[in-house]
Amino acid sequence: MNEAVSRTRSAIEVHEVASEWDVVVCGAGVAGLTFALQLRQRLPGVSIAVVDRLERPLPRAAFKVGEATTEAGAWYLTEVIGIGDYLEQRHVRKLGLRMYFQGDTPGHSLDARPEIGVSRFLTPYAYSVDRGRLENDLRGLLEERAIHLIEGGNVADFQLAADDGAWHEIRIESKTGMRRLHARWLVDGSGRRALLRRRMGLTQHNPGYGSVWFRVATEIDVEDWVAPESESWHSRAGNGARRYHATCHLVGPGYWVWLIALPGGYTSIGIVSNGKDHPYTSFNTPDKCMGWIERNEPLLAAALQGHELCDFAKMPNYSYVTRQAFSASRWACIGEAAAFPDPLYGTGFEVIALSNSMTVNFIEKDFRGTPCAREIDAANRFFTQYCLGLTDAIQSSYDYFGHPVIATLKVLWDTLAGWLFNAPLLTHALYDDPEMRLRLRAETGRFYFLSRRLRRLMNEWSRAQTQMVRLEYLDFTRLPFFRAARQAGFRKEMDAATLLAHHRDSLALMERFTLVIFLLALADCRPGLLARVPDDLRLNAWAVGLDPGRWEVDGLLARDNPRHDLDDMLRPLLSMIRAPVLDRFLESEVVGG
Ligand SMILES: Cc1cc2nc3c(=O)[nH]c(=O)nc-3n(C[C@H](O)[C@H](O)[C@H](O)COP(=O)(O)OP(=O)(O)OC[C@H]3O[C@@H](n4cnc5c(N)ncnc54)[C@H](O)[C@@H]3O)c2cc1C
Repeated sequence: MNEAVSRTRSAIEVHEVASEWDVVVCGAGVAGLTFALQLRQRLPGVSIAVVDRLERPLPRAAFKVGEATTEAGAWYLTEVIGIGDYLEQRHVRKLGLRMYFQGDTPGHSLDARPEIGVSRFLTPYAYSVDRGRLENDLRGLLEERAIHLIEGGNVADFQLAADDGAWHEIRIESKTGMRRLHARWLVDGSGRRALLRRRMGLTQHNPGYGSVWFRVATEIDVEDWVAPESESWHSRAGNGARRYHATCHLVGPGYWVWLIALPGGYTSIGIVSNGKDHPYTSFNTPDKCMGWIERNEPLLAAALQGHELCDFAKMPNYSYVTRQAFSASRWACIGEAAAFPDPLYGTGFEVIALSNSMTVNFIEKDFRGTPCAREIDAANRFFTQYCLGLTDAIQSSYDYFGHPVIATLKVLWDTLAGWLFNAPLLTHALYDDPEMRLRLRAETGRFYFLSRRLRRLMNEWSRAQTQMVRLEYLDFTRLPFFRAARQAGFRKEMDAATLLAHHRDSLALMERFTLVIFLLALADCRPGLLARVPDDLRLNAWAVGLDPGRWEVDGLLARDNPRHDLDDMLRPLLSMIRAPVLDRFLESEVVGG
């Protein structure tokens, strides 16, 4: 530890009685707890106090929402926080995301609904977690690592330091009375209470999206909803893999319902809606919620018969992003105190990982005496843009939920983009390397325009779709490019040149995938136009669209477009998505160039 840090330490020892801390974290939710552990690893000599109004034991299962991690979220818990073995032993390994799209009539038997998912566990693993168990156990870890935990302490007020030499003051009320803590750094991990963000009016609201959820003390297993005689349906899930271990989503226009297997035989269930087709007020009480499930997901209603709800919670307008998460005046917001984009893919732990890691870096720099005010400005722009981008990308998917093939391709697109572009931000600490981010943006800045174009194409397709292109079951594990992207996005220790090459290759992959989607869209609603698509697939992915009147002016078919070989994507996809008119493109042996 350098001189600046040891100076702070001795100050703490002198002022221990007055409760002065290098860092005070308000809130011991999963963000505050993992943040404290990460900071302790990085700066063993720094004094840390974590305050939460809740005392142990925290309730099992029916506690907080946010029970399914993504691969990147799990990577953070495993590789950074170091609790991989613990997750394996005490929580549930997740069999990916699984979706059942609504047919024309609610109540369709499950085996008649288009289904997507994975049939085996792929590395890196993701997990379904019992939040009560996780937070209980993380609190125990804090104590083992000499982090001071104040339970049953409500942060009633705080005063930010007036200048650089001063300390923040935090007023805490508990059963035993009131006490004041003084801190060089104030880290807000208070979740939606958002002590700092609210005080400073930093919230950018994204209204409309709402959710309710509850837990039942039984396994709700979708496999029980399909008769055993439907053998092909039962066996296609994979080699002994149980659908119960997937995060199952029952999807219909503008909504999805999650089913998450929790340890100990509990199931978490929640309804999420974009507020358009299914207003929040149509399911925001236990009675209305059960009525809604009866009308829209009767198979689930039947499975819930006779089971008491352990709890019921609700949240209208759940989505928001802060305008500022970090300050050179030595405060920061982490986890939900900073942002919550959307629950669809379970990116909550990713936001936690990013905000925690960035805050740890700034605190380290501060204690090492490295000025970083300008860096913090840039970091705020990066973090808010990241969260806003994530929100926009995820929530645009809701518009396609009534169209199984389009929604499937959008989920696949988002998943690939998440692994290829977002995961390296975390795994290679690119959040702390603005220069490298600039170099990468020079390589992949065009991805933004590609995704806008894709959205436009999907919007056109969803208006014109005929359902001639259909799917019954799409097993992502049978797509070699899906498996390869997962490995590529989580590759370890890429140096600058490898990272640049990875981003270049990833953009090329997304470009080819856009063309695959374009061909499927044509096959579905403009099959006659496929005749105009050249065999060597000299197409411009940034110009795809269903209006042939624009093809020439947009350069879709320009002669100097590169050739594309889509065989490695189209072939496995067409073995699961029915679009026979596209077989022609499988026969061509085209060399990429
Ligand atoms: C509908 C929905 C579904 C979601 N699904 C997922 C998912 O599948 N996967 C995923 O990764 N994320 C999901 N999330 C997000 C997930 O819930 C959050 O990322 C996560 O809970 C945030 O953790 P946190 O520690 O920031 O906040 P919290 O867990 O809320 O912790 C905040 C802590 O601060 C304490 N606190 C608050 N105010 C005070 C005070 N004044 N004094 C003292 N203590 C205080 C509280 O007691 C609490 O323990 C979902 C969110 C929603 C809304």
